[in-house]
Amino acid sequence: MIRNALFLIPMLGFAGLAQAYELDDAPGYVSPESFPATRLERARLPLDPLDRDRRFKKVLSALKIPEEVAPPAAWFPKTEETTRPEFDANLPFLDPDGGLRRYLAVDEQGVSLFREFFSHILPRDYFEAGVDFLKEVQGPNSQDLLSRIATISRQVKSRSGPPLKGLKVLIDPGHMGTTDWDEKTGKFVSIKGKRVSEGQLNLWTSLLVAKELESLGATVMLTRSDARAVAEPGPEGFDPTPYLNQYFYNSLDAWMAPLLTGSESEMIERVLNAPETKKAFSQVQRGQYFITGADLEARARMVDQFQPDITIDVHYDAFKSDQLQNRDNTIEAFVPGGFRITETGSRSVRAMMFNHLMETRRFNASVELADRVIGGMSASLGLKRLNIQEFITSVKVKDGVYARNLYINRRNLTSLMIYLECLHYDHTTEFPRLTKLDARAQYRGLAFSYPARINDVVYGIREGLLSYFENLSEETYLGN
Ligand SMILES: [Zn+2]
Repeated sequence: MIRNALFLIPMLGFAGLAQAYELDDAPGYVSPESFPATRLERARLPLDPLDRDRRFKKVLSALKIPEEVAPPAAWFPKTEETTRPEFDANLPFLDPDGGLRRYLAVDEQGVSLFREFFSHILPRDYFEAGVDFLKEVQGPNSQDLLSRIATISRQVKSRSGPPLKGLKVLIDPGHMGTTDWDEKTGKFVSIKGKRVSEGQLNLWTSLLVAKELESLGATVMLTRSDARAVAEPGPEGFDPTPYLNQYFYNSLDAWMAPLLTGSESEMIERVLNAPETKKAFSQVQRGQYFITGADLEARARMVDQFQPDITIDVHYDAFKSDQLQNRDNTIEAFVPGGFRITETGSRSVRAMMFNHLMETRRFNASVELADRVIGGMSASLGLKRLNIQEFITSVKVKDGVYARNLYINRRNLTSLMIYLECLHYDHTTEFPRLTKLDARAQYRGLAFSYPARINDVVYGIREGLLSYFENLSEETYLGN
């Protein structure tokens, strides 16, 4: 494989994320000798990737953590008809710091992913996967998904029969929603004896959206239909080992990177005594492995099994549990992407990132869907879209649509994915409305009361979804 047109790899210091990426000097071939030493120093990384790999293995062994296994083949991209211009156009949203590009070799024909970075000086066995632009693929891929979406669009436009018949939607009400879980996750607001639980808002909203979409002909699956965690067994009986291991794999390009230097014994000493290592083995962190690991993984596996065309994650936003505010009440949607330079340490995470990066048309379709749904919600709720360039780790794609490396987003490799933040439940105008159970509904034999304000959210999602199919242009979509 001849790889002669590599991008110059931007190396930023770990505190330098706010500088965004330095792509002005790309593309161009860079030999390891000519790679600016100052940049390497700034990033405080050992020059030789094989030495880095060897050191990381030593550290894992000292921590009694097994080496990370190769990611499942299904996680690598199966792209078809992704072109170089499409790839280039999506890079700023998916790999904003150039972190993943350190592991990639890109030329006009295709892209290769390597197990270690500085791919141009690595031996052949560090090669992990390669995808050519415009190649033929076998088996399920994004083009099959987009063909199904196009079929639904034709059906919606024809206005005969149930518009969403044949569409499979997975709805994931975020968090858990019991008082117990709220205390552990912090996802609630409680003021003067009045309380709003985000997990409960998410649940009511999801049940009502499910009911609405089913009435339009869609087949819907919910990750949960009551207030509880999704993973079985629960936090007491679950095995934290895979999530503990993953914590350390993730650390390679983050806090551990600058520690992998000097003599071997000093290096091991340094890592064993790092606060991050102590945290990894703590009881508090064990709880986090359940909430942000096992429970999200259980939800992601339902996507794998159900194979939806569209996945909708339902969330509401708040800043603090004991305080209302009247500044922010915007809405936004997260799509996969926004993979930051400190998040590329794990092989399996990189495989998933690579998948989202290469399946450009699936990404574009998620953005389009998010844009429409946020538009529908904005009209129905009378609220504005979030419109700032970059917040937390996310990257703006469009007004109200942000690429963000959330577990649920990253792990979804088969469907369109939108993660909604419906409104701010800690806002002074919303909180009182959401403490009232002034509406009633029944879904799948379950009768329940809920705040009537949620009807505006549900109507917005419904209208946004229909307008997505209504306005879908098959040419731009399927690329023919
Ligand atoms: Zn949430």
